[in-house]
Amino acid sequence: LRLLFFLCMFSCIKPYLYSQQLNYDKEVESLLSKMTLDEKIGQMNQLNFYELNDELIEKVKRGETGSLLNTTDPKTVNLLQKAAVESRLGIPLLIARDVIHGYKTIFPIPLGQAASFDPQIAETGARIAAIEASETGIRWTFAPMIDVVRDARWGRIAESPGEDPYLTAIMGEAMVRGFQGTDLTNPTSIAACAKHFVGYGASEGGRDYNSTSITPHTLKNVYLPPFQKAIDAGLATVMTSFNDNDGIPSSGNKYLLKNILREQMGFNGLIVSDWNSVGEMITHGFAAEGKDAAMLSANAGLDMEMNTELYAKHLKHLVEEGKVSVTDIDNSVRYILKLKYRLGLFSKPYVDVNQPTTIYSDEHLQAAKDAALRSAVLLKNENVLPLKETQKIAFIGPMADAPHDQLGTWIFDGEDSHTVTPIGALKSGEEYKSLKFDYEPILRSSTDTDTSNFSKIQEIVKKSDVAVVFLGEESRLSGEAHSLSNINLIGVQSELLKEVKKAGKPVVLVIMAGRPLTIERDLPYADAVLYNFHPGTMGGPAILDLLFGKANPSGKLPVTFVREVGQIPLYYNHNNTGRPAPDNAKTLYTDETNTKQTSVGDVSFYLDSGKEPLYPFGYGLSYSKFEYSDLTLSSKVMEMSDTLVVSAILKNTSNIEGTEVVQLYIRDLVGSIIRPVKELKGFQRVSLKGGESKTVRFTLSAEDLSFYGMDMTKRAEPGYFNVWVGGSSKAELSETFLLQ
Ligand code: BGC
Repeated sequence: LRLLFFLCMFSCIKPYLYSQQLNYDKEVESLLSKMTLDEKIGQMNQLNFYELNDELIEKVKRGETGSLLNTTDPKTVNLLQKAAVESRLGIPLLIARDVIHGYKTIFPIPLGQAASFDPQIAETGARIAAIEASETGIRWTFAPMIDVVRDARWGRIAESPGEDPYLTAIMGEAMVRGFQGTDLTNPTSIAACAKHFVGYGASEGGRDYNSTSITPHTLKNVYLPPFQKAIDAGLATVMTSFNDNDGIPSSGNKYLLKNILREQMGFNGLIVSDWNSVGEMITHGFAAEGKDAAMLSANAGLDMEMNTELYAKHLKHLVEEGKVSVTDIDNSVRYILKLKYRLGLFSKPYVDVNQPTTIYSDEHLQAAKDAALRSAVLLKNENVLPLKETQKIAFIGPMADAPHDQLGTWIFDGEDSHTVTPIGALKSGEEYKSLKFDYEPILRSSTDTDTSNFSKIQEIVKKSDVAVVFLGEESRLSGEAHSLSNINLIGVQSELLKEVKKAGKPVVLVIMAGRPLTIERDLPYADAVLYNFHPGTMGGPAILDLLFGKANPSGKLPVTFVREVGQIPLYYNHNNTGRPAPDNAKTLYTDETNTKQTSVGDVSFYLDSGKEPLYPFGYGLSYSKFEYSDLTLSSKVMEMSDTLVVSAILKNTSNIEGTEVVQLYIRDLVGSIIRPVKELKGFQRVSLKGGESKTVRFTLSAEDLSFYGMDMTKRAEPGYFNVWVGGSSKAELSETFLLQ
């Protein structure tokens, strides 16, 4: 019996022993012990690939670089890897690239993917991106971007999953799973990189690269949780951010990288700088010159330096002068080598150039279309959608046939020629063959201000039953270094829409943009609004299917839509003031008279634009109608060690099959620090046939209710909580329970 017991025990711990081996500690230590200081520093140096020349090959052979970014030709990768294999210790290169929302097959921008509230969409998108990118030898992507963003002026909001830490964490975790697969050694797996650590999304005024002033509690409760979730999912790498928080640039912030990221958050992968961010500490006024910058970053625990070669130039002297320790260098090299082992690069450094390609495969295109379908948000629909194929339709506007612009920002490799626009899908597909339509872009691009074609509008629209107007932002208006201070529809697009409306026909406004635009002024001229964050390669067919009711919109806003840019930042999960605006608060100036109304007392909102956004976080319509009822708690009292089941009945009261994103929010009514007025804690996509209902259940644990309180430890605090279930952050069904 005893023998049997030991045999059983061994078989239980065997997988554990095996997984320990996969840490490659032995291999790493043995290799490290053979390395010279120069070779170690070489591993910490990441270079941009410009061209394949002898100088680069020799550099690699001498072991002077550990990683290259931006080479996508497999033959070139193999030549470079050959040079690396021929270096004294034969350490392969890490080949990296920004594969953000697809490699060639482009998925909706991450903000759009978040609108699906469907982590499977993000996981599949990342998996497909990894499969396509790894065909060229790329084994490391600088994604997911999991900055929480509450300012639509910031161009990089496009790359983020939006304003909410919970949704951002869920989408980021899904992308990590997708990129890395179940096993990093699989040649189709690529290492993920969560970025930008940390707080970059809070840059002042939405101006890119700017300073942030994130306080310790907000850091822990809002900006770090998505990173923690990614780390817990096995995240391989982290990138430091450009911004300084409270005067300290992330790339030289020892407390942030060593104490918070390594010790408190338990991250044991590789930390890479952002592009030039080490050198930029000089411009910040944080480092005196290059050597100083290299010292600050190395001492902060930043393992690999991107692009400026400051580590390569200065680390050796810094070690000799005793200003950087060999222990720190060794630790960094361990993380780098370990990742190379985990990726299987030592045993398989080369790409198979003869493998059949999966790029733009039917399966990948279908997945990109599914993602675009789920990412579109129906904001308004006054009896006009879905369209009928028997209607004669005028398609108008610069975004109707703009392949490049519909792909969105950060598409290094996606090709315009493979992109299917709405007009492209109408013309090429069998599906809409019988449709009668006219197409006239009127403007060449979203920024075109030439109105000479406006004279054509009346004639085209008058002979149609309905006009579909495609407006928005060309892709270059969002993304890195593309912030805007005015986020109305750019150029003369609003005028175009007004002109269309004058013809007296129903108007459908389809927007493709990289951010939530301020569209309140445009709403009177559109009977329906379908909002797409740049939808990617298959955006065209997806939008047509949604317009014609072959698919039913199900996306929800991952970010608040403000009325006026001056309301920013406005997000659903803010704290209460001591003088909150009452629910019936009105703006004190009316548009019509511009006269002052009676004051409602001390107001914590804008006199002109009020306290409400145009559309709240989580909002989105469907062709179905959903009703919520019977919110029930498994108990009104929850013990710390218990779980609480929250259920509600969702009914599809229409006769159209559809999917609703059911959302669960909580509020901790009294905390040792003030808790937000609402916090998303769960969501589920629920599909219902016409007339069908379902009980939707969520389970809350003390972990879900916990936060970093006054004493900076994470725990749930006893007391009363509100809980809501509904179809947006304005969910009305609510209950209260006591946590004790
Ligand atoms: C961006 C990063 C990106 C890096 C490498 C930087 O400018 O901030 O997000 O990964 O460039 O291309």
